[in-house]
Amino acid sequence: MQVIDTLSELRLARKGLSGTIGLVPTMGALHAGHYALMEQARGENDQVIATIFINPLQFAPTEDLSTYPRDLPNDLKLLESAGVDLVFTPTPAIMYPADFQTAVEVSRIAQGLEGGQRPGHFRGVTTVVSKLFNLTQPDRAYFGQKDAQQVAVIRRMVYDLNFPLEVVVCPTVRAEDGLALSSRNAYLTSEQRQAAPVLYRAMRSAGDAYDQGERDPNRLRAILEAIVEAEPLADLEYASITNAQTLAELQQPTDQAMLLSMAVRIGRARLIDNLLLPLSLNDRSGLSIALANPEYQ
Ligand code: AMP
Repeated sequence: MQVIDTLSELRLARKGLSGTIGLVPTMGALHAGHYALMEQARGENDQVIATIFINPLQFAPTEDLSTYPRDLPNDLKLLESAGVDLVFTPTPAIMYPADFQTAVEVSRIAQGLEGGQRPGHFRGVTTVVSKLFNLTQPDRAYFGQKDAQQVAVIRRMVYDLNFPLEVVVCPTVRAEDGLALSSRNAYLTSEQRQAAPVLYRAMRSAGDAYDQGERDPNRLRAILEAIVEAEPLADLEYASITNAQTLAELQQPTDQAMLLSMAVRIGRARLIDNLLLPLSLNDRSGLSIALANPEYQ
């Protein structure tokens, strides 16, 4: 496995790779959710490139950039065991030299949900992901459903800007109690960790109601809110029921696919999670059509 941290070495190494390339961008502090992305990329491509870059552009000044977990030695072990061929670990100065003055911005689909709570976040994401696409020129790029709006925004960008690659979305990997794996789970104390499955519990309850015929987004939203509000350690930031393709907030009952998503603060951690309804869409084949795939609009 080659580990590279400069643009010139990356260009050279990329030229030496033949066959199809799968790219998995990450911010490091890797866990089994990241591993699943690497494995899927490994199975579908001749070469796998992973990137580790904590992208300052996607953090607001009030957010956790300086404390975001970092563990490069462990990350490299995990990537090696996943069979990754090349790891790119640039510094912020390499990605954003002093005179950097360009951004890539997707509009409507980036505005609600996480985009509403974190102004500028997706502009940072789409800018860095564009750079990583240009630098690595992958055939496929792998992202997790865990960040469903990110998938939708990147799909839109790839389609709108004609990036010659396929965006592949992988199911959310969870702990046994339902908590979605996340690098930020490291912020939780053991008591907070015990409270954290409340997100999944709330979403599953809404999913059960959906299975029993409930199609009213207001009632589904109320189920999410009631369950999170009953957990004393959890502070609900938003609970949302949107159209799974446009990410527009729903007010009227509908039989179209819905994305149920939430952001909850527990202690220092801001946790996000989501589920598609009907629940069958959360498997691999359903995901790829449900999450704002422009070809299906
Ligand atoms: P991050 O390092 O948090 O930026 O995540 C890098 C990639 O891994 C993103 O595409 C995430 O959506 C994905 N990812 C993070 N956590 C999970 C998880 N629990 N299951 C599946 N994918 C995940």
